[in-house]
Amino acid sequence: MIRVNENFKALSENYLFSEIARRVSVYKKMNPDAEVISLGIGDVTEPLCDSVVEAIHKATDEMADRSTFHGYAPECGYDFLKSTILENDYLKRGIFLSNEEIFINDGAKSSLGHFGDILSADNIVAVSDPVYPVYIDTNVMEGRAGKLLPNGQWSNIVYLDCPREKEFAAQLPERRADVIYLCSPNNPTGSVLNRDQLTEWVKYAKSHKSIILFDSAYEAYISDQSIPKSIYEIEGAKEVAVEFRSFSKTAGFTGVRCGYTIVPKELVAYDNNGSAVSLNALWHRHQSTKFNGTAYIVQRAAEAVYTPQGKEQTSSTIAYYMNNAKTILEGLKYAGFRAYGGVNAPYIWLEIPYNMTSWAFFDKLLNECQIVGTPGIGFGPSGEGYFRLTAFANSNNVTKAIDRIKNWNI
Ligand code: PLP
Repeated sequence: MIRVNENFKALSENYLFSEIARRVSVYKKMNPDAEVISLGIGDVTEPLCDSVVEAIHKATDEMADRSTFHGYAPECGYDFLKSTILENDYLKRGIFLSNEEIFINDGAKSSLGHFGDILSADNIVAVSDPVYPVYIDTNVMEGRAGKLLPNGQWSNIVYLDCPREKEFAAQLPERRADVIYLCSPNNPTGSVLNRDQLTEWVKYAKSHKSIILFDSAYEAYISDQSIPKSIYEIEGAKEVAVEFRSFSKTAGFTGVRCGYTIVPKELVAYDNNGSAVSLNALWHRHQSTKFNGTAYIVQRAAEAVYTPQGKEQTSSTIAYYMNNAKTILEGLKYAGFRAYGGVNAPYIWLEIPYNMTSWAFFDKLLNECQIVGTPGIGFGPSGEGYFRLTAFANSNNVTKAIDRIKNWNI
């Protein structure tokens, strides 16, 4: 008799965005003339920049010619893209890495989700609360999370406090944690970890023989020069951290799919005998077995992000989104809300007034202002009482939405 992986039965329903869509659809049916503005889903709205589009056309032409056609790509990426990334994103910041330490993929989510395959199911996992839900759900699937408790937390997961007074930065845990997910700039709170905070985390990981899975999918949105874009800007981080990055939000690749993972050669985990095992070697084995490479056309598209024109064009799109973030943040504050993030990240984290739940606030904002956002509870129990707005939207719509909120008698 075929049996299922029981861990999947433990997963809670992933209903956040479908429930948002359902409520919006009901509202639109009842109010067909309403102009609903979405500041809800974290997906880009601006098209690919010209340099990327040109590279895609050129690579497509190569694929149409027998002499320049490409079949299977190397599982861990073409050297032309690896070298370009390492030179621009790391070497220029004083970080030395070799081509064997970078793994090109189809975006950050799959590698973040699969990385647990090479780690023991007995490891204790720590996540911030609120959190990007992928970190938790993938560990539920792999049997690391334990049982879902009535408070919405999982029994075996260590939840890191992210207090408002500390600008939502993940605090060191009191319990030991073996695998620590850190996300900076953060989805959903829009907060960032500064150099001192990251240094503390690297120290913690070293002293506990833990590993940090550092998600910097939004690093391109950091405007404050003092905030590290890479965890490897912190001394010793190569011995304890994996870094996940993506072209999704950097260059509008959410529908193109390309990202990369850095697994330094210094990084080890331990086997049952306490002997050190190279995670770089295990991840290489994992990717060569379970992944057949990112499309040639896509890797040429990603390479074009680093040309002088590509850099200029992608920065201008990021500036466009960050101008939206500024409009949202300032508008919310003007309207009397407490709001956070939106300076080094495309997300604004709004504190809901009057003890309203985040779903009650969602309904009120939709019904009274025709604006869609994301209820904080969707990111974990500590998200209750908060609401996420995204800067990924058309700027005219953002201005309109914020005018509505300014004139709102909540
Ligand atoms: N990490 C964070 C924090 C995200 O918010 C997202 C997407 O929204 C991802 C990773 C995954 O991005 P992708 O798979 O598109 O690279």
